[in-house]
Amino acid sequence: MDKTFNGLVVSANDSGAYTATLSTKTISELPAGDVLIRVHYSSLNYKDALSASGNKGVTRHYPHTPGIDAAGVVEWSSTDRWKPGDEVIVTGFDLGMNTSGGFADYIRVPASWIVRKPDQLSLRESMIYGTAGFTAGISVAALLKNGVTPDQGPIVVTGATGGVGSVAIGILHRLGYSVTAVSGKPEAHDFLTSLGATDIIPRSELDDTSGKALLKPRFAGAIDTVGGSILATLIKSTNYGGTVTCCGMVNSGDLPLTVFPFILRGIQLVGIDSVEYPIDHRTAIWQHLADDWKPDSLASLTHDISLAELPDAIQTILKGQMQGRAVVRIV
Ligand code: NDP
Repeated sequence: MDKTFNGLVVSANDSGAYTATLSTKTISELPAGDVLIRVHYSSLNYKDALSASGNKGVTRHYPHTPGIDAAGVVEWSSTDRWKPGDEVIVTGFDLGMNTSGGFADYIRVPASWIVRKPDQLSLRESMIYGTAGFTAGISVAALLKNGVTPDQGPIVVTGATGGVGSVAIGILHRLGYSVTAVSGKPEAHDFLTSLGATDIIPRSELDDTSGKALLKPRFAGAIDTVGGSILATLIKSTNYGGTVTCCGMVNSGDLPLTVFPFILRGIQLVGIDSVEYPIDHRTAIWQHLADDWKPDSLASLTHDISLAELPDAIQTILKGQMQGRAVVRIV
């Protein structure tokens, strides 16, 4: 008999508004895939909120179960690579976009999307990271690859209280960097200090609208999560030869800039994509996240929510009011 389970289902009502409700689903409704995973934890990312509010750039067809992250235990597998009982992590690819996602008791996915959970990390910890933390990890890896070292000066992190930003601060602090946090939340000063930020500056101070091609250099590198004029300001304010990573666009998808930071200061702008990030390299990032990059603050930058609490949390993240990470407890 077909097994039933719980999941959050987003659908459009008669007036075209999208609502998320806790519903009963069946295993046979899940897309075809090599591996059936019993989800223990998921996490809430900005992209989930877009999917849950009818953003067709993320999810084309509804009704739909969002959740771009899942950590759980293999229950059934058609490949030798995975066997029942394996503890695994799935982030990105098409999960939660047009493939039924982690905001449910079960997912069924291709074997090639799955990463083995490192021993040093619990399933819950892997979802404190989730896509946001994994993206922070890829961003830090880009700075390291480009030779940005702690003695060169501070690293600036934007969207500092958000998922990517807060984990990035924790990792950089663990690696001995001095971190400047850029935040629109004055009340989050203590939170950011507890993650390891040594300097905190308001968002408005790093949003240059003077039209100047270059600004006084002040950072050895940058991890940007917001885009737009703030990203442009970072690129214009980075020291000679520095690296700026770019992963998000909560501020804007535009980049109002000239070529001068690149041709006069040799700045490198590195695009970060966690969705199609090659599976072979994923394992290495997760291993670092489990071990030598793991922030002391990891436990304190999250709060747990249930599937039933997700609709409220989705509104919070859409308003840019989320602080740290929200782990979704499924089991
Ligand atoms: P969150 O919502 O958790 O954090 C975003 C933070 O940005 C907010 O907490 C806030 O921090 C700041 N912010 C909000 N609104 C604005 C605004 N209008 N202008 C400037 N800053 C703002 O999101 P995530 O950290 O999960 O994701 C951040 C971005 O990265 C998103 O655009 C997301 O889609 C993208 N992303 C991309 C990935 C990729 O693979 N390329 C993977 C993961 C995320 P504060 O108040 O402290 O300033």
